Amino acid sequence: MNLSVKIFIALVLSVIVGLIAGAEGLPFIKWWIAPIGTMFINLIKMMIVPVVFFSLVVGITSLGDTKKLGRIGAKTVGIYLVTTAIAIAIGFAVAGIIGPGVGSDFVAGQQPKVKEAPYIMQVFLDMIPTNPIDSMAKAAILPTIVFALFIGVGIVKVGGERAELLIKFFDAGAEVCYKVIGMVMELAPYGVFCLLLPVVAQNGPKVLLPLLTVIACVAVGCTIHAVGVYSTMARVFGGHSPVDFFKGMSEQMMIAFTTCSSAAALPVNMKNCQEKLGVSREISSFVLPLGATLNMDGTALYMGVCSLFVANVYGVPLGFDQMMMVVLTGTLASIGTAGVPGAGLIMLAMVLQTVGLPLEGLALVAGIDRVLDMFRTCVNITGDGAVSIVINESEKNAA
Ligand code: ASP
Repeated sequence: MNLSVKIFIALVLSVIVGLIAGAEGLPFIKWWIAPIGTMFINLIKMMIVPVVFFSLVVGITSLGDTKKLGRIGAKTVGIYLVTTAIAIAIGFAVAGIIGPGVGSDFVAGQQPKVKEAPYIMQVFLDMIPTNPIDSMAKAAILPTIVFALFIGVGIVKVGGERAELLIKFFDAGAEVCYKVIGMVMELAPYGVFCLLLPVVAQNGPKVLLPLLTVIACVAVGCTIHAVGVYSTMARVFGGHSPVDFFKGMSEQMMIAFTTCSSAAALPVNMKNCQEKLGVSREISSFVLPLGATLNMDGTALYMGVCSLFVANVYGVPLGFDQMMMVVLTGTLASIGTAGVPGAGLIMLAMVLQTVGLPLEGLALVAGIDRVLDMFRTCVNITGDGAVSIVINESEKNAA
């Protein structure tokens, strides 16, 4: 049986068992089952820094010249920004139609406890590592990427025989990483089951019902964006049918859905975009790690939906100007969002604050954030895959 079918079965089983077990089964599940899920996540996390570092250096050295790197970098970031802005617009449109929170009689709960959103220049500042080993030890992806970029460019500039040695070393290192990731993925069905079971048992259906409209908006918006925008990109630029595209993406989408972390899905995304969607190693190892940290279309879409939801709940009308402001700050905020669970909620605070919406609204969203995170993370990484296909094709034509 194909691995993604197995993962899907595990997902369905976890929902069924979780609903049956409910709150009574929760202590047992938390004690015995949840740690197995965490072990699986740890196995994946173990590979994030090595695969990003090795493959990014390989990606850059195989580009061979720095002009090409600049061209690909500019194209990648450009497409990332455009798709992100489209995602927020879709979020607004869907929320405008479904109207989450309209006429609701929610009473805002206690002031939510959220960390303060980082100042946007701080995000850029933090990208430059003062100590790359420290950044890697902390699994800070963005500074690791910047360091790998410099090392890669350095190797290209040294050239010749001495560089050859290092290129071979990094190439072999990347290969080993992919092999290990393949081994870890064999365990995915068990990992997924053990990860989802506590979430379902804890939340049950009742917690989700009052906020179902928000979930529906995010789910519908994400589906529209993934099917409408991404599979069209994959079709037009890469010649992949939507079925092919989503087949190639399915394993990493499942990982994203269950782990709520773009960073955790990155190793599998890199492997499958190369092996199943034909993206060259040089492109995928540059575009995907960058996307896993910068390109968060699902998170942006969620910001559009949630700001409209909060506006509806508190009866604050959201004008066109404010919507534009959400698009702008939402795009920036999604860039600053880390590829880890729940990061988007913190950045949502920044967006709400900028457009003058009550921050108490966060408390409402926080209760269902885990579910929303599943959808948005799934879209986040699918977008990276679609853009890697576009860049791959455009570079073939440029060559
Ligand atoms: N969990 C998301 C991700 O890793 C980020 C977010 O919270 O929006 O892509």
